Amino acid sequence: MGMCKPTGGIYKLYGPYGKNIKDIDGRPPNSRTDYYDEVTGKLLQQRWYDAEGKACWDRDWDHNDSRHTHTFPHDHYWQWERNKEHPPRPEYTGPNGEKTNKNYW
Ligand SMILES: [Zn+2]
Repeated sequence: MGMCKPTGGIYKLYGPYGKNIKDIDGRPPNSRTDYYDEVTGKLLQQRWYDAEGKACWDRDWDHNDSRHTHTFPHDHYWQWERNKEHPPRPEYTGPNGEKTNKNYW
């Protein structure tokens, strides 16, 4: 997993609360998509895409958390090497327990 800086542009997307960004590949190389709640305008999710336009990193700013097990924001990384059609998206925890990775912004 390399660093992903959105040199390929930042794209805004609006949609319903409680959903993830749909596109996991086929996006502009090294771009980022910022997903906003279509009703409230609140930032819900950011997704970074790698040099091949594939999802490489997610930052969740808000989603359903009925069991209150999440802190926001928190990051997820993509394990394409494990499954090319439905890559797992584990939650990130940094070396000091941090929930976000400062290499992504
Ligand atoms: Zn999450």
